[in-house]
Amino acid sequence: MKKVIIIGAGIAGLSAASYALQSGFDVTVYESHRIPGGASTSWRRKGYLFEGGMHWLTGSSPKTVLHKLWREIGALNDSVPIYYRDPFLTLEFKGQTVCLYRDLDRLHKHLLTLAPEDRKEISRLCKDIRNFTKLSMPLTELKGVKAKHKASKSFGSAFAMLPLIPRLAFYGKLSAREYSERFQNPLLRLLVQNITSPDYSALAAIFTMATLTSGDGGYPEGGSLAMADRVAKNVQARGGKILYGTPVEQVLVKDGIAQGVMVRGEFIPSDAVIVTQDTLVAIDTLFDPPIREAWAEKMRKETIPILNTFISVGVEADLSALPETLAFVPEEPLMCGGTSHTLIGINNYAAYPGYAPEGCTALTCILGGDSYDYWKTSKENGSYEAEKQKLAEAFLKILAKKYPQTEGKIAVWDVATPLTYERYLGSYKGSWMTLMKKGVPNKSYPTIPESIKNVYFAGHRISPPGGLPIAAETGRSAVQYLCRDTGEVFQGKE
Ligand SMILES: Cc1cc2nc3c(=O)[nH]c(=O)nc-3n(C[C@H](O)[C@H](O)[C@H](O)COP(=O)(O)OP(=O)(O)OC[C@H]3O[C@@H](n4cnc5c(N)ncnc54)[C@H](O)[C@@H]3O)c2cc1C
Repeated sequence: MKKVIIIGAGIAGLSAASYALQSGFDVTVYESHRIPGGASTSWRRKGYLFEGGMHWLTGSSPKTVLHKLWREIGALNDSVPIYYRDPFLTLEFKGQTVCLYRDLDRLHKHLLTLAPEDRKEISRLCKDIRNFTKLSMPLTELKGVKAKHKASKSFGSAFAMLPLIPRLAFYGKLSAREYSERFQNPLLRLLVQNITSPDYSALAAIFTMATLTSGDGGYPEGGSLAMADRVAKNVQARGGKILYGTPVEQVLVKDGIAQGVMVRGEFIPSDAVIVTQDTLVAIDTLFDPPIREAWAEKMRKETIPILNTFISVGVEADLSALPETLAFVPEEPLMCGGTSHTLIGINNYAAYPGYAPEGCTALTCILGGDSYDYWKTSKENGSYEAEKQKLAEAFLKILAKKYPQTEGKIAVWDVATPLTYERYLGSYKGSWMTLMKKGVPNKSYPTIPESIKNVYFAGHRISPPGGLPIAAETGRSAVQYLCRDTGEVFQGKE
C-alpha cells in the first residue's frame, strides 16, 4: 500500500485524507495543533462556546453538487441539523433597518419599500441574484483519472451560463463599494458594501446573495469544531492516523523527488506528500531551497490576505430577542490595529443551544483588515496584552451603549489577533482566505509543482478567494492527481 503523508488537519488536509484512504492509500496526517480543523475552529471559555470560523457553509443544501463532498468526508450527515438564519444580516443606520432576507421575493419587496428611489437598481440586482442561483460550485473529475463514482462536471449548465456572462463581467470589474454607488439610498449602499466587504469584488457580494437566497449557506449544528471533529473521526474510522501536536519541519526532496518529511529531526519516508499548510508559507518554509516556480512568485507577489481581529464575549443576559447578525454604526468608531471601524458587526448565538450557560449569550465580533504589523509591533514592544485589553474595553463600551442590558454583565471576553491565527495556522500573517479584488480573474494555482515529483498542494490559498468549500475541494483534487500519477482508482463515497 502506498504511503501518503498529509501536512495539516484543517479541512483541506482532512478532505485529502478521507479521499486518499477511500482510494486505498496508507495515510498519516501531521498536525501542529492539538485539535483538528485549522481555521475552522471554535473555543470554549467559562461555559461559553465561541464560533471562530464558519458562519455559513456553501454546500449545506442537499440540492447543491458540493453537498455530496461534505457527506463523502463525513462533514454532514442526516443527523446534523442545519440552521438557516433568516434574516442573514440585519443592518441599522440612522434609525432605519434593512434585513437581508433569504426569500428573494420578500427581499425584493423589502428593499423597494425602504428605497423606492432605487427601484430600477433593486430590480436589476434581484433579477441577477435569481439568475446567479443557477450556478453552483462544481466537483470536477481530473482528466486521466480513473474514478469509481463520477461527480457532476458543470459549473451550471452551459445554457444557464450564457446569459450571465455580461453580468459576470459587469460585477467583476467593480468593487462592492463602487457598485453600491449605483444606489441612492444610504442604507442600501451600506448593505451592498457590507454583504462581504467594501473592497472585495462586487461579484463576491452577488454570489453570496445567490447562495443565501437559493436555500444554501446554512450553519451545521455545533459549528466549525464539531464539523472538523466529525471529519477527523471519519478519517480515523477509515484507518487513517492523525498525529496532533506534531509539526512537519521540512519536505525532504532528493533529485527532484519528495522522499518524505522531517518531524522533530527525524526522517519519515513516504511515497507522496500532500501539503495543506498555507501554500504561501509552505513554499518558503517547508522546502529547501524554497520553490521559485513562476506560479509561486506570482502567489508571493499578488496575494492580498484576508485576516481579522476577533472579539468574543460571554454575556450574563439572554439576548435572544436581538438579531442573530447585526451590523450598526456606533457613535464613536472602534479603533483596532490602527484602523477606525465605523461599522460594527455582531454575531449573536443566543438561539443556539449549548453556546452559553442557561439565560446567557455568546457574542462575537470580527474586525476585518490587515492589522498584522500593528499587533506584531505591540508584541515586540511589550504592549500586546494592554492593547488587547484596550480593544476589548472599547468594544464593551460600544456594546453597552447599543444594548444597555449587557452593561456589567460580561462574564468573559477574549481577543484573538492575527498573531493568534498565525501561531495556530502557520499561515501568512494569520490569514485564512485571499481577497478577491475587482477586475482580477479568479485563477487557481497548480496542485503539483513542476520541479518536484510526489508533492501535491491543497488548501484555501490554491484557489482564491478560498474558504471551506475550496479547502475541501482542493483536498479532493490533490488526491485525484495522486491517483492519476499512481494509477489508482479515485474513490469517494458516503
Ligand atoms: C473568522 C473566520 C470566519 C470564517 N468564515 C467562513 C465562512 O463563513 N465560510 C467559509 O467557507 N469559510 C470561512 N472561513 C474560512 C475557512 O475557515 C478557511 O478558508 C478554511 O478553513 C481553510 O482551510 P485549510 O485547510 O485550507 O487551511 P487551514 O485551516 O489553515 O489548515 C491548515 C492546517 O495545517 C496545520 N499546519 C500548518 N503548518 C503545519 C506544519 N508545518 N505541520 C503540521 N501542521 C501544520 C495548521 O495547524 C492547520 O490546522 C472563515 C475563517 C475565519 C478565521
